[in-house]
Amino acid sequence: MKDYRRKRILVTGGAGFLGSHLCQELLNEGHEVICVDNFYTGARDNILFQMENPHFEVIRHDITVPLYAEADEIYNLACPASPIHYQFDPVQTTKTSVHGAINMLGLAKRLKAKIFQASTSEVYGDPATHPQREDYWGNVNPVGIRSCYDEGKRCAETLFFDYDRQYKLSIKVARIFNTYGPQMHPNDGRVISNFIVQALTNEPITIFGDGSQTRSFCFVEDLIKGILLFMKSPNDFTGPVNLGNPQEFTILELAKLVLHLTGSHSKLVLKPLPSDDPTQRCPDISLAKNKLGWEPKVPLEEGLRKTIMYFDLLLSGKLNR
Ligand code: NAD
Ligand code: UDP
Repeated sequence: MKDYRRKRILVTGGAGFLGSHLCQELLNEGHEVICVDNFYTGARDNILFQMENPHFEVIRHDITVPLYAEADEIYNLACPASPIHYQFDPVQTTKTSVHGAINMLGLAKRLKAKIFQASTSEVYGDPATHPQREDYWGNVNPVGIRSCYDEGKRCAETLFFDYDRQYKLSIKVARIFNTYGPQMHPNDGRVISNFIVQALTNEPITIFGDGSQTRSFCFVEDLIKGILLFMKSPNDFTGPVNLGNPQEFTILELAKLVLHLTGSHSKLVLKPLPSDDPTQRCPDISLAKNKLGWEPKVPLEEGLRKTIMYFDLLLSGKLNR
């Protein structure tokens, strides 16, 4: 007998860092998962352990091209998230955000499927208010090196809300703040993976600028719980909602903590600050707390220990996957 609670769920970007964790949780919940990915920044290794699972399918596909598939729900995560990767082919980044959103929204419209959008704290740009609430409209450079990502994601939000208003689609838009954890790629380029890999290999820790800029880091387990609660929340709660950890650290503090936890002797080296690098970032998560009863539980030190253990195994070739 078919289990009526089992859904078929399509996850774009399912071979990436967040996508692979999400696929795993959806499979754990008993759903069928279709992972759609062009493997630009994603890795087959992230999903290898699911390949034998009869409820898991992979489609190699670029979401800038229309996709014909059948599903009850869609999670749209496809998009490179690390500045070095999204800046490598900025036109493709904008296409992925904008054409990709149009294609996935079109699919959701035909299927009458609920659709989740992985938006980002980058829609706030270099924020002039602190911490950032969802009703802040942001301070984004439209013509800078981060604009392909920031403006692409802002346009995707516009599309989601217009599809909702125009076609009564069921949408869920989350603004995700910096998230880290196992299954990040060692060459991902984001600060936590860079610092841990540098510390474990006794290479210099590269601090961009003077390290006084701040970020707030959410452990991946906490974030995935937030995404799943949001998707299950009543349809009239569309977001946008901030999902992230409100504990804020300077990049210098992060570097020192990574050195302490790894026991590394790496030196700190200062590198030029990339242009438009936001000076401060911290989510106000009151909305998520009130509407979803969600808040992150894993402190930075604990999440870093787990992530360090993962990279240690990966770099020493002992990871069994
Ligand atoms: P990631 O780079 O690890 O994963 C992105 C995945 O999307 C990869 O598997 C990649 O191959 C795939 N992809 C990229 N372009 C594609 C395309 N055109 N068609 C199909 N697949 C494509 O990044 P992540 O950290 O897992 O981020 C996932 C999503 O969450 C992204 O949309 C990102 O903007 C958003 N987000 C992440 C963070 C974070 O801190 N991790 C913060 C804010 C927002
Ligand atoms: N950063 C750094 N050294 C690195 C990588 C990043 O100092 O090796 C800084 C970067 O300039 C930014 C912060 O760390 O201020 C977070 O960068 P990341 O690329 O992880 O994400 P962002 O929040 O900027 O998208």
